[in-house]
Amino acid sequence: MNIFRAMKPEKVYKSLAEMPWDILAQEGIRTALLDFDNTLGPDHATEPEEYSYNCIKMIQEQGIRCCLVSNAKSGRSAKIAEMLDIPCVTFAKKPGTSGVLKAIEVMGSTKDESVMVGDQIFTDVIAGNNSGVRTFMVEKLHKQEIWYVMLKRPLEKIVRAMAHF
Ligand SMILES: [Mg+2]
Repeated sequence: MNIFRAMKPEKVYKSLAEMPWDILAQEGIRTALLDFDNTLGPDHATEPEEYSYNCIKMIQEQGIRCCLVSNAKSGRSAKIAEMLDIPCVTFAKKPGTSGVLKAIEVMGSTKDESVMVGDQIFTDVIAGNNSGVRTFMVEKLHKQEIWYVMLKRPLEKIVRAMAHF
């Protein structure tokens, strides 16, 4: 048994913008479940940045619909999702699976047609893997992050070194 099974993403990309959304679309992916903080925008930002809008547009142009799946308080992530004009599941409780599964339902999608993408192993990757969707990790978008996320980064490094990703 591989103890890293739930922690290992299918692949790590430098950023959302560098993911092969055209190929994912060809493979039947129709729904992108996206973390916000340091995946689609700055950590703990109250608004999207230009990069966020560009990523959503780029993904949608491949016929893939986007949904935010955020552990953030409902007010902040709901406002961000509204500005980006995409649906949102707040209080997603990642690494639990309830938020991811709810997002798939909200999107009228299936596990086979969905991917989860986020920047953290111990929330996004585990939630995606345990929900049974294809799961990708991106490197953190900006250096700046809140202290309790910084605390987890050294542990991520150990997992990544041991599980080779
Ligand atoms: Mg994040």
